[in-house]
Amino acid sequence: MANRQSFDVLIVGAGHGGAQAALALRQRKFGGRIAIVGEEPEIPYERPPLSKDYLAGEKPFERILIRQPAFWEERDIAMLTGRRVVSVDPVAHEVACADGGIIGYGRMIWAAGGHPRRLPCEGHDLAGVHSVRTRADVDRLKTELASTRRVAVIGGGYIGLEAAAVLTKLGKAVTVLEAQGRVLARVAGEALSRFYEAEHRAHGVDVRLGVTVERLEGQDGRITGVRLAGGELVPAEMAIVGIGIVPAVEPLLAARAEGGDGVSVDRHGRTSLPDIFAVGDCARHANPFAEDLPIRLESVQNANDMATTVAKAITGEPEAYHAVPWFWSNQYDLRLQTVGLSTGHDAEVLRGDPAGRSFSIVYLKQGRVVALDCVNATRDYAQGRPLVAGGIAADPAKLADPAIPLKELANPAAE
Ligand SMILES: Cc1cc2nc3c(=O)[nH]c(=O)nc-3n(C[C@H](O)[C@H](O)[C@H](O)COP(=O)(O)OP(=O)(O)OC[C@H]3O[C@@H](n4cnc5c(N)ncnc54)[C@H](O)[C@@H]3O)c2cc1C
Repeated sequence: MANRQSFDVLIVGAGHGGAQAALALRQRKFGGRIAIVGEEPEIPYERPPLSKDYLAGEKPFERILIRQPAFWEERDIAMLTGRRVVSVDPVAHEVACADGGIIGYGRMIWAAGGHPRRLPCEGHDLAGVHSVRTRADVDRLKTELASTRRVAVIGGGYIGLEAAAVLTKLGKAVTVLEAQGRVLARVAGEALSRFYEAEHRAHGVDVRLGVTVERLEGQDGRITGVRLAGGELVPAEMAIVGIGIVPAVEPLLAARAEGGDGVSVDRHGRTSLPDIFAVGDCARHANPFAEDLPIRLESVQNANDMATTVAKAITGEPEAYHAVPWFWSNQYDLRLQTVGLSTGHDAEVLRGDPAGRSFSIVYLKQGRVVALDCVNATRDYAQGRPLVAGGIAADPAKLADPAIPLKELANPAAE
């Protein structure tokens, strides 16, 4: 068939997980044919700068490429960009693309991430309403900035808050609309939420908590404001919607892969379909740092480490996924570094003084350290890692004392 290509490993999704899977395979001397097929027109680039320095105009696109084009060519990794996979035939071992092309595979790694969740209300498709997931999203948004004075950020998660920080610095009047009673409610403890809420307020952001968006209003097809339940109108020429993602797994689920809120994978990244693996934002896996409960993690660390796990399985040296989760976020002059998963913690210990803008919050569960949020506190982050990795039980009084380095608590037997 003329319109059919075939590869030993086909990677679907040219993002963080897809790029790392190809890299790790070649690093492990995999000599077969590899292709990455991705619906975006770009070769793999870093997504975190999209809501940080790329949005701020401080980094050009070339500097956020994961590798330069020559790198992929030299390693004989084919980049099939601008092509979307629409269906998977696990028996024939081939996928169909939206352009009608068919691509065969020996093994497939599904690394398709997710698509931004859309607001379910009227006006979600007005001009001036943006998400921040791709370079195209951000480039589109940037072309409208000059004519924008007021921005409504819908969703007070990391992406919404990072965008709010950048746009405030660019002189825009920003309102953050959050449905929960605190920002970062899904990912952080109360104290961190309150700290970031106060920081944004101090920078002039109007942070509105516990509000429900009724609809987006517009004129001549362009947004003019956000109508809240209760009737209030928040005027805005632009809205940024950061309310999470929907995992991009429809073709896999249609092919009867097990899943729901992502595709289910085992400890080696295998889906329930033969020779198909999945990694990154779309992969639901039993995570040892979440008591082996099935979760999806949305982080560069998780995409990269799962991709390496899958490369190991494919090259015949399987090793179960057991990476310590970590994450970061930059807002204003604050660098947050997180290690571990705080979900389900039963105690929080504050270490340092938030007023001094350098502190950490240690999360405990039944006396054991499960996570740290470190704000401008890289040493705590580095030294706290072994506490999380080992699930170490530590004395809250010692954790709270910044004069005691965390590394001294990492080896309780030595105390
Ligand atoms: C604005 C922003 C800021 C972030 N900041 C941070 C941060 O500071 N720290 C951190 O750790 N993480 C951050 N993240 C999260 C991190 O970027 C993701 O967790 C990571 O990109 C996940 O990698 P992935 O390979 O699973 O998916 P992605 O990197 O999203 O790549 C998936 C690719 O697959 C493509 N695709 C989807 N469906 C198909 C299909 N059917 N056919 C072909 N291609 C398809 C998509 O278009 C996309 O290019 C941020 C994310 C965003 C959007």
